[in-house]
Amino acid sequence: MRWVLLCWALGAGATQALSAQDRAAALRLVQAYPAHLGGVEGDELIWKDGTRMPLRRANAPTYVSLLNAPGLLNQLDTRYPACAPLRTPARNEDPGRVRYEPLFRKMYGGTPQEVQRHLVAVNWFGQRLLVTQVNGAAASLRQVAGDLARRPHLLPYARPSAGTFLWRKVARTPRLSVHAFGAAIDLNTAQSNYWQWEGYAEGQAGIRYRNRMPAELVHLFERRGWIWGGRWYHHDTMHFEYRPELTQACGPLTPSAGR
Ligand SMILES: [Zn+2]
Repeated sequence: MRWVLLCWALGAGATQALSAQDRAAALRLVQAYPAHLGGVEGDELIWKDGTRMPLRRANAPTYVSLLNAPGLLNQLDTRYPACAPLRTPARNEDPGRVRYEPLFRKMYGGTPQEVQRHLVAVNWFGQRLLVTQVNGAAASLRQVAGDLARRPHLLPYARPSAGTFLWRKVARTPRLSVHAFGAAIDLNTAQSNYWQWEGYAEGQAGIRYRNRMPAELVHLFERRGWIWGGRWYHHDTMHFEYRPELTQACGPLTPSAGR
């Protein structure tokens, strides 16, 4: 037994090959964040500054423990249905909600001051929103605003925004919100549904799905690299966050989607 443990301890630090599927998922991540990520070696993600991050799965016995402390491969297990028709998610189907926080902290900043250094103003129909320019998030949100301006019937859902940057944890959790990185936007709360406002607890069965946001608006955001909290069982239909690694299935923009 002691010998087995010793072998395990010695092996734990060694680089191992990933499965073909995990390697492909890691390479999609590299492709989505080319300013930061350089490649994949063995079971490590290689950053352009030479940093190495382990591509591992956490041993998480429950859904909540997975959300609170996932490995990077747990995040990459996500299949987000970008640009697909809207539907009611199954229990605990929250594509994009498992986030490996060290990845986001390193890209966008690990403190409010670091994040703030990268924030720029985005004009959101007369409202001044602060959004990170890291990974082109602010530029992408300006394009979404342009897309929406050409579709005035969608504006009542989009404005006023309920906020972008705010250094905070996800309500009642130890996890930083993507709002803390300046890479998320909340739309008009008067047109939104949020599971926490409806009195449910994390992971509980029987959360009743509700949504009023039109698919046309959701797809506009997804085409620009933003995922939607309305695709989550723990629905948050005002919430979009910049996650270009999950929206590649939308394909290239068509002229009708705006340029
Ligand atoms: Zn939000």
